[in-house]
Amino acid sequence: MSFDLAARLAARRAENLYRQRPLLESPQGPQVVVDGQPLLAFCNNDYLGLANHPQVIEAWRAGAERWGVGGGASHLVIGHSGPHHALEEALADLTGRPRALLFTTGYMANLGAVTALVGQGDTVLEDRLNHASLLDAGLLSGARFNRYLHNDAVSLGKRLEKATGNTLVVTDGVFSMDGDLADLPALAREAKAKGAWLMVDDAHGFGPLGANGGGIVEHFGLNQEDVPVLVGTLGKAFGTAGAFVAGSEELIESLIQFARPYIYTTSQPPALACATLRSLQLLRTEHWRREHLQTLIRQFRQGAEQIGLELMDSFTPIQPIMIGDAGRAVRLSQMLRERGLMVTAIRPPTVPAGSARLRVTLTAAHSEAQVQLLLEGLADCFAQLSSEPSHA
Ligand SMILES: *Cc1c(COP(=O)(O)O)cnc(C)c1O
Repeated sequence: MSFDLAARLAARRAENLYRQRPLLESPQGPQVVVDGQPLLAFCNNDYLGLANHPQVIEAWRAGAERWGVGGGASHLVIGHSGPHHALEEALADLTGRPRALLFTTGYMANLGAVTALVGQGDTVLEDRLNHASLLDAGLLSGARFNRYLHNDAVSLGKRLEKATGNTLVVTDGVFSMDGDLADLPALAREAKAKGAWLMVDDAHGFGPLGANGGGIVEHFGLNQEDVPVLVGTLGKAFGTAGAFVAGSEELIESLIQFARPYIYTTSQPPALACATLRSLQLLRTEHWRREHLQTLIRQFRQGAEQIGLELMDSFTPIQPIMIGDAGRAVRLSQMLRERGLMVTAIRPPTVPAGSARLRVTLTAAHSEAQVQLLLEGLADCFAQLSSEPSHA
């Protein structure tokens, strides 16, 4: 008996599914240095261009001088400091909910919320394209776990008929690999009609969506009765790190009591919360970032359609180009990189088999000239690929 890791790795390579980590040798932004090569990148989730913002960096520096570096303990012991508390209040204000609870990562916020709310004898229903952290949370909870068809309220309704115990319906707000929006008004109606709770993970909606960056819930004008459990992450448009769950007093107090990934971990560095407080202010007030992003999204979609690329149903900064075959997606990504452009190929199991894609993301830090360069590179690479003999 032994672990045959070499065989597993070889099989993954043979399927064109082998993963490698590009080494970033610069701050995040449109112009990066990766593995020693300067590149124009369209693959980070820093949608508003705040990850390397001088004011956010300054808030971090000042925060470290005042509060030190380490969180030092878990929130329930002595790790819950002033900046964490102030950030929770600011996030509650952003979301229009009574309370918000800060988590160390989005993955942990999702594990914590789902496992604290449902367990054996309960039901958790998830969109089949939900983020891995939500699917893992559902499985870990011990509740009856079922997936409904992507963004399909009718499919959800059928499963709700058979649900037992406390029932939690869980969906991404903006689907992270597709860029489309959950049909929240319809999902909320179904859930409410059956006495279920709707939980939305809006990792990619906070910042770009909503008049003040309040995400998909602000976009659709929904309230806490429609969406009792609202999750956001801070590593995307906020440009920092961490996550939060927003909701009622009772929800947040329950998470403090029962969410193990909240209780049994060290709080994030307080200076990080200082940085996020600053980026939150920029996210809410600098509307030009959202407006510029929308201009770039329109420009990209128009240009890509002229080239004949297969886009997805998205008006968010996530603009995937559907390819299908994983090998072809990797080849295109390599060809773009040879031209100085970085766009990630996304392959199974991150996306369903046969739906490999190039995941283009646009940010407020990009210029129209840079999007034009991307479009020209895509046109050339697609033309070159279709003239090459096909790949296995
Ligand atoms: C990125 C992401 C997460 C995980 O958040 P982290 O803070 O990076 O752990 C959770 N849900 C969705 C939809 C995401 O895109």
